[in-house]
Amino acid sequence: MSAEFDIAVFEGDGIGPEIMAPTIEILEQLQFKNKNYKLNFKTAPAGAKHYQQTSESLPQQSLKIAEESDAILLSAMGLPGVRYPDGTEISPQIELRKAFHLFAGVRPVTVRDSKYCPIHRPNGETIDFVLIRESTEGLFHSMGKGVVTKDQATETLLITRDVSEQLFDFAFKLAEQRKATGIGPGKVTCVDKANVFRAFAFFREIFDERAKNYPTIEADHAYVDAIALWMVQRPWSFDVMVTENMFGDILSDLGAGLMGGLGVAPSADIGMDQAVFQPCHGSAPDIAGKGIANPFAMILSAGMMLDWLGHQHKNKNMITDAIKLKDAVNSVLADGNNVTGDIGGVASTNEAAQAVMKCLKE
Ligand code: ATP
Repeated sequence: MSAEFDIAVFEGDGIGPEIMAPTIEILEQLQFKNKNYKLNFKTAPAGAKHYQQTSESLPQQSLKIAEESDAILLSAMGLPGVRYPDGTEISPQIELRKAFHLFAGVRPVTVRDSKYCPIHRPNGETIDFVLIRESTEGLFHSMGKGVVTKDQATETLLITRDVSEQLFDFAFKLAEQRKATGIGPGKVTCVDKANVFRAFAFFREIFDERAKNYPTIEADHAYVDAIALWMVQRPWSFDVMVTENMFGDILSDLGAGLMGGLGVAPSADIGMDQAVFQPCHGSAPDIAGKGIANPFAMILSAGMMLDWLGHQHKNKNMITDAIKLKDAVNSVLADGNNVTGDIGGVASTNEAAQAVMKCLKE
């Protein structure tokens, strides 16, 4: 009997529905072929458009669907023109991270094909690292709580011991796993600004404490400004990086740039027993409705979901399918004939997704 998993699907705003539809089609094709697991997709309405229509951005019913699901697949939510009365954008994805305590924002940075990478690699070095962005506190803790008077505005950053310990353990375990499978050398770099802010000195202190429990992994430190420089000058020197929410938000777009752009950058927000898988990019309203959005970041995020579910439930078939999916996207990228405009091609969303599907059939 095949294992069954409920997947909450937030197709969201802008290009969200356009990239979610082919992704579900690909997942259906994979599970149909494999027959060893079954995914039941449950649509969960939420986002800016939903807020416009109903005055609710994340309805209780959608939260319940998410709560009862085994994993959450999310495309993009929010539109610049739709805001709460305080002027902030609709971001149910941030609420989901808080609701399910999804503290580890995992952003793999893998250069799949040289032609999409803007960095010169003098000796053909491999760029393959994972940026882990704390996703429930940091400066984002202040979301909706900032104090603004006529003359000044204040937002407060929060770092807690509990969350930091969980975060660093996650990072060290990931480095161990990468080392064991021959992907990384076994190094975690703590990215902070400990030379200026006490909160970051506290963050670093906890990192050093947790590092003692992982003697086979090198514990490294760097200031965030230096990391921004090194991510451009020598991105191949990193294995696993771990940082605060706001720093991670910024650095993950830099990481996406190394890969060729937001259209190919997947991500996951992972907690102890729930996770959201969504591309690094937003709802891209400037290209919504045109059928030209790159679906690869969404498809690769779905691959991360299969891998996570496979590890959580010890289902080797799902782990194998995750690898197949990544390989299929890689080969479409390498071929270059069916890629979208954001990475230099002329293919439509559908043509790019169909090319992945064709690879999976072969
Ligand atoms: P958010 O703050 O919600 O993350 P953002 O303001 O960073 O969003 P995005 O929606 O990610 O903005 O878009 C940034 C730029 O990247 C836009 O020009 C958009 O068209 C482009 N872009 C984002 N995602 C894709 C995609 N999948 N395919 C093609 N272009 C994309």
